[in-house]
Amino acid sequence: MTRIVVPLAPPAPEHLLARAEEARRAGADIVELRLDLALAAGGRADELLPAIARAPLPVLVTIRHAGEGGAWQGDEEERLRLYGRADALGAAWIDREWAWHARRPWLPARAGLVLSHHDWSGPGRDLPQLVRAMRAAGAAVAKVAVMARDAADLEAVRALHDGAGAGEVAAMAMGEAGLPSRLLAGAWGAAFVYARLADEAGTAPGQPTVEELLGSYRLRAQRRGTAVYGVIGAPIAHSRSPLVHNLAFAHHGLDAVYVPFLVHDATAFWRAARGWLAGLSITLPHKEALLTAADELEAEARAIGAINTLYRRDGRWVGANTDAEAIADGCASLLNGLRGRRALVLGAGGAARAAVQALRRGGAEVTVANRTAARAAALAREFGVRAVPWEEAPGVAFDLLLNATSVGLRDPEATPWPHPLPAGGAVFETIYDPLDTALLRAARRAGCRTASGLDMFISQAAGQFRRWTGLPAPVAAMRAACLASLQAASAQGVEGPREAHIHRGHP
Ligand code: NAP
Repeated sequence: MTRIVVPLAPPAPEHLLARAEEARRAGADIVELRLDLALAAGGRADELLPAIARAPLPVLVTIRHAGEGGAWQGDEEERLRLYGRADALGAAWIDREWAWHARRPWLPARAGLVLSHHDWSGPGRDLPQLVRAMRAAGAAVAKVAVMARDAADLEAVRALHDGAGAGEVAAMAMGEAGLPSRLLAGAWGAAFVYARLADEAGTAPGQPTVEELLGSYRLRAQRRGTAVYGVIGAPIAHSRSPLVHNLAFAHHGLDAVYVPFLVHDATAFWRAARGWLAGLSITLPHKEALLTAADELEAEARAIGAINTLYRRDGRWVGANTDAEAIADGCASLLNGLRGRRALVLGAGGAARAAVQALRRGGAEVTVANRTAARAAALAREFGVRAVPWEEAPGVAFDLLLNATSVGLRDPEATPWPHPLPAGGAVFETIYDPLDTALLRAARRAGCRTASGLDMFISQAAGQFRRWTGLPAPVAAMRAACLASLQAASAQGVEGPREAHIHRGHP
């Protein structure tokens, strides 16, 4: 079983005991007493170490050396004396760096030994050999923590658990790109996962909260073999896809988990991860990059030239574009069918391509207008629809106005349509951050029917979920959760729930 470890740097014993109790209540299994940090904060070892025996959870004692990201700069013999004292006073685990152990071996008499290796430059050296050496030297747990620049780096970390016995290896990647290594600790069979209490910054970049691990990511239900899904993009921290898809997996009781992958090089990530992924969502800027990764494309995706979904069918990877069907379904229900309806699409980027294809296929008469006229003209030519210059768009008669520009994204006052709207018309917004854009407010004032970017987001996610599982997504619950998350983020004045929590400093 993967044990959740909450690192603490208490300056006094009562802090250690109080925070350990909070960690226990949150659902953690172990607290890590970061004695190096506690001493640097003015704590005293002769007061803190005796408190170990009274802690409500097993205690892992770490005196991290400054050379591996900690605060200990003292003498090694003094450090070993403190470790010996911790061992005698009831520490369940003791963590010492492999580099120091190799030079001057030391084994605790009672506690389990964690030998650890930290590399801030990335997964550079021969990590499997390192783990073998740590285990041979007496490590009950071999801990490896390396910085990840891109989610492709995760593979080196994941593979360290292959072939290891349960609870023998705790390998993790640091930084935002490394977050999945922590969220998937149960699926990878890691011995430990380090997590923070909700009101703490954490001791290493990219640590999730205990609540996130046990809640959305269902760590206790994960096991080797749990199906792994995710979304790739850059940036990715703001994505609500993990929230809604994990909720859908839990709703159906499926043995599956979905994580955010910060990916800059989509091809490198795909090469590294395709063997262990069960399915993938793809967001900006990678919707075109993985077209060739698919063994086949659905007809709609081929026509659009972009995919937001990869799923397996009969051992082959299939690429799909569920943005287009989300737009088609949403517009059709706004207009009671698309055939013969006049649609004006604003924009000529990826969302506009999906919209034009979806509307045209449904039988609508489509006109495109874009700030850069040449892009609108090229799009119109490709799909056989009409383009008008941006300035002439207010003169176009339409039943449906669809905003596929990014005007209004994270700006509640900006609108791509500062013009009158026809009463009884329909407006489809693709933006969902903010939830209520200036365009949607104007549309309601004019008496138009509206569909929001949130409606589209949930609908495209439901299309992905159906392809991966063959099951209907619980759209009402997904929508409610996403709405609550967006509202909470907007009340906090932050872009997204994770963004504020990623600790970017030194551990
Ligand atoms: P994109 O490829 O970057 O295209 C952006 C479009 O916005 C381009 O047509 C661009 O015009 C236009 N634009 C940008 N700034 C403008 C300005 N100041 N005035 C007028 N036009 C401007 O982006 P995309 O992938 O198509 O995404 C477009 C929107 O769809 C985004 O807001 C995104 O959040 C949303 N979306 C939502 C969902 C969902 O599930 N709800 C899914 C996908 C996309 P130029 O060609 O002149 O640069």
